[in-house]
Amino acid sequence: MAEIIDGKKVSEHIRAEIAQGVEKLKGETDITPGLAAVLVGEDPASEIYVRNKRKACANAGMYSEEHKLPAKTTEQELLNLVDRLNNDPNIHGILVQLPLPDHIDETKVLRAVSPLKDVDGFHPYNVGLLVEGNPRFISCTPHGIIKMLEFYNIDITGKEAVIVGRSNIVGKPVSMLLLHRHATVTIGHSRTKPLDEVTKRADILVAAIGRANFITGDMVKEGAVVIDVGINRNEEGKLTGDVDFEAVSKKASYITPVPGGVGPMTISMLLWNTLESAKASSK
Ligand code: NAD
Repeated sequence: MAEIIDGKKVSEHIRAEIAQGVEKLKGETDITPGLAAVLVGEDPASEIYVRNKRKACANAGMYSEEHKLPAKTTEQELLNLVDRLNNDPNIHGILVQLPLPDHIDETKVLRAVSPLKDVDGFHPYNVGLLVEGNPRFISCTPHGIIKMLEFYNIDITGKEAVIVGRSNIVGKPVSMLLLHRHATVTIGHSRTKPLDEVTKRADILVAAIGRANFITGDMVKEGAVVIDVGINRNEEGKLTGDVDFEAVSKKASYITPVPGGVGPMTISMLLWNTLESAKASSK
């Protein structure tokens, strides 16, 4: 039976470390790390996420503000707000909650965020730094995954790592992070054939697909470390991951649950990046 990787526990450790860092920075400078979250339209999941971020900021001693804009906001109005936040000395991190309404060009907006305040790590400049191996802001979910592996002393060097999913937010950056830590990395996706032959090679398997219980027991090697990024809701509204937890936990050596695995880490790493940004602004 697999050992559970407890994202809440790891998160508590990291948030305590962040709170200390915030205290130290406030003591040495007059800077309070500040995060601005921008939300366009009314997506209930995004609203919960943004509310959780605010709470987490307050608990860490950080300043945060929330900009809730109506769904009919124009692209230019949003760009004007981003520009204002880019130039606001009290704000060290800007987060534009995705998805944006269809009439707004997401790529354009994400590129408008100053790379120095891009705490989500989505700006091409920061993606480039990550690929180069000198990251400034590592996007939060992939960063959280690495922190969990480190917390549990899971060795990455020389391991076969398979990531299923090739999104810019999770699949691609987590592949880079594992590669830089000397894993042999394979990315599987919707056109990979046959996918189970690839997943069965994995010593470390990351599932970032967005399909409930997609990774079944027979797709996983005995003893694999399984990281489930997926957040799916079944008909009863219950949260489930991309991994068939019941079957896979019987074969894996370590596994992350959903909820309580990767999810809590994402917000922690957002705070981490905001603190790092505030520290950099003091130099
Ligand atoms: P996405 O939709 O952008 O990407 C999904 C990827 O899955 C694609 O690259 C696609 O190739 C792959 N895929 C889809 N169908 C497939 C199939 N049949 N076989 C193999 N691969 C297939 O999603 P994303 O933004 O990367 O998010 C993935 C999941 O992770 C979602 O459930 C999302 O809600 C969740 N997520 C969780 C967190 C967190 O904090 N825990 C953060 C981000 C995303």
